[in-house]
Amino acid sequence: YFVEPHLFSMQEITITGDDVHHIVNVMRAKSGEEILVSDGAGRTARARLESLSGKEVVATVLELLDEKRELPIRITIGQGLPKGEKMEWILQKGTEMGAFAFFPFSSDRTIVKLDEKKESKKLERWGRIVKEAAEQSHRSVLPKLLAPASFRQMLTAASDYTRAVIAYEKEGGTTLHEVLPTLSPGDSLLVLIGPEGGFTLEEVAAAEAAGIRPVSLGPRILRTETASQYVLAAASYQFER
Ligand code: SAM
Repeated sequence: YFVEPHLFSMQEITITGDDVHHIVNVMRAKSGEEILVSDGAGRTARARLESLSGKEVVATVLELLDEKRELPIRITIGQGLPKGEKMEWILQKGTEMGAFAFFPFSSDRTIVKLDEKKESKKLERWGRIVKEAAEQSHRSVLPKLLAPASFRQMLTAASDYTRAVIAYEKEGGTTLHEVLPTLSPGDSLLVLIGPEGGFTLEEVAAAEAAGIRPVSLGPRILRTETASQYVLAAASYQFER
């Protein structure tokens, strides 16, 4: 369960909100049993349940654990907004696979349009999906979910990362396998993935002009929701052996 970072410096932590229902009704946990708590920023601890009610759960932090659950490079999945429920799938699986952050964006071939009301509802739902997936896979970092941006804004944001690449299915380009070994633990990588219709030539050219290198994710064309999983699996293979 994720708790506010400042609670980690205290012996006793109080858990409120949806997690209470999960601990009490789903896990049917009893006082004296242990749970794992994380500050969402990399620290995980064992904690003993002291008291449980329908509103809050109080636990004592017993011991900080030396968990190695996070990918050594921080990967942000820049995802061209897909149709339907695909984004939910990407967030859930991407969290399991170790993504550091998700950055949805709209581009020339984006089909879904999010107005402000829809966007805030979606972000709330997506945030819950990320949190549940992070708990399920015992992440010690809670992946960040950034507010949807435009393709132009993504190009500007790219300079905040050690490296930024745009996944482009052109034959003969640089491959991800060539890029990954140039990164070191602690580095950050932004990967832009197009929506179902891919990127336009103009977008790829604009990305290149902004210093974002086009990379191939192998010889097969992947669906937009598969591309991020490919990237994360390749990074795991490169850095977690
Ligand atoms: N428009 C393309 C087509 O119909 O041939 C397909 C786009 S693909 C479904 C969606 C996105 O996934 C692409 O924009 C790209 O970012 C990424 N992608 C899929 N397969 C890829 C590959 N083999 N190499 C690099 N990127 C890939």
